[in-house]
Amino acid sequence: MTTNAIITGSTSGIGLGLAHALAGEGMNVTLNGLESPDEAEPIRAEIESTYGVQARYSDANMLEPEQIAAMVQETEKAVGSVDVLINNAGIQHVAPIEEFPGKKWEAIIGINLSSAFYATQAAIPGMRQRGWGRIINMGSAHSLVASPDKSAYVAAKHGLTGLTKTVALETAQDGITVNTICPGYVKTPLVEGQIPDTAKARGISEEEVVRDVILDAQPTKEFVETEQIGALAVFLCSNAAASITGAALPMDGGWTAQ
Ligand code: NAD
Repeated sequence: MTTNAIITGSTSGIGLGLAHALAGEGMNVTLNGLESPDEAEPIRAEIESTYGVQARYSDANMLEPEQIAAMVQETEKAVGSVDVLINNAGIQHVAPIEEFPGKKWEAIIGINLSSAFYATQAAIPGMRQRGWGRIINMGSAHSLVASPDKSAYVAAKHGLTGLTKTVALETAQDGITVNTICPGYVKTPLVEGQIPDTAKARGISEEEVVRDVILDAQPTKEFVETEQIGALAVFLCSNAAASITGAALPMDGGWTAQ
């Protein structure tokens, strides 16, 4: 039986890396992002042709509970099941608490936390029925520790670990595991875009920005690779990982060891 996965926020960065990793293991994948189906078509087609799996695309907006539930239900209808759910979609905004726009707070909590609740709620009944499921929530080192000026992001990412633990307990006897992966900095387009601007603003080289600014908290001074996160997700989906549930697994180059 083929395993069917949904990865939210998978047209870019970590989510796209996860889609490659799971498809590389022969899983059918439903991709998701804000792009229109036409815009996402090259990404969908590449995954399908590279790995010979079925790749679908949903443009469900992770701020809309009904669209999230419909994405899960449509996937179940189209391919028969949702066995793996990776709640990965996320956004960031950086500002001191007094200046943090309420709308940004709402959007970050909505996309980074509430969407995981709605997708999980929609996927659990089918997983329970089949007696097998894997839910992976994309946390962050910020699920475990804080940084200034990231109130909404840190609150959402800490919230994800709470959701993970609770659903893990509720599904512990149903063959379902629920875990949070907590990466440190990953060089996605989102992070890459900040390097030249920071170098210019601070009058330092791009190498210095990476080492002394971005990777300041990351003892290895190396970015986490999307392939490394993909490999951990693949392991969590295996039967060897059946006893790992309710965990928050750091992959952060030693950040949270400090
Ligand atoms: P990214 O910006 O490269 O990708 C984000 C994805 O989410 C895109 O596919 C985008 O279309 C999608 N998305 C955004 N808003 C959406 C919405 N409303 N509905 C549906 N899809 C939406 O970001 P990334 O760096 O790959 O981050 C992915 C996840 O990993 C996030 O949850 C982020 O918090 C987490 N994370 C990132 C890092 C890092 O250093 N990049 C570190 C730790 C955790």
